[in-house]
Amino acid sequence: MPDSINKLASKFSKLPGVGSKSALRYAYAVLDMSEDEVDAFCEALKEVKEKVKFCSQCGDYSETDICPICASRPKKTICVVAQPRDIAAMEKAKIYKGVYHVLRGTISPLDGRGPNEIRIKELLGRLDGVEEVIVATNPDVEGEATAMYIARLIRPLGIKVTRLAQGISMGSDIEYADEVTLGKAIEARTEI
Ligand SMILES: [Zn+2]
Repeated sequence: MPDSINKLASKFSKLPGVGSKSALRYAYAVLDMSEDEVDAFCEALKEVKEKVKFCSQCGDYSETDICPICASRPKKTICVVAQPRDIAAMEKAKIYKGVYHVLRGTISPLDGRGPNEIRIKELLGRLDGVEEVIVATNPDVEGEATAMYIARLIRPLGIKVTRLAQGISMGSDIEYADEVTLGKAIEARTEI
């Protein structure tokens, strides 16, 4: 097989969930594209890296300094998530109308990741006027440890700290929860 096909396939195989067989199929699909299509594909790849930065408030991906959610919603409630993709899941549930805070990770003593490695300091800097912090980290060991850490820091400030109800079963990710389950988990959140 030509080297360039192998090379392209090896790039595709770096994507999550793409095995070597799929990677090769994608490489062949690119060969079948017109030159214009390939140019547009390359352009989209470069554009996403050039344009998408982080929102200076919540830390979600954004093409503007302040993302549309931070720019338009009341800031009395902050929903704390581990990753930007969790915001997408929460928004699909269409229940929550406050702002978010992306930690970009969770506390994981086993991996040597402490509170300073994630965006907890930034969260503490946003609490002026906030009445409730909903911790929507995944219901696994790291997510629970992170939620407890945040609750211990924020509760003494007189701010209510809640956690999504256990509609999402232990070990399952918020990212993959269906919107009905997630909506119920938001509504039935409990104080921690
Ligand atoms: Zn934002």
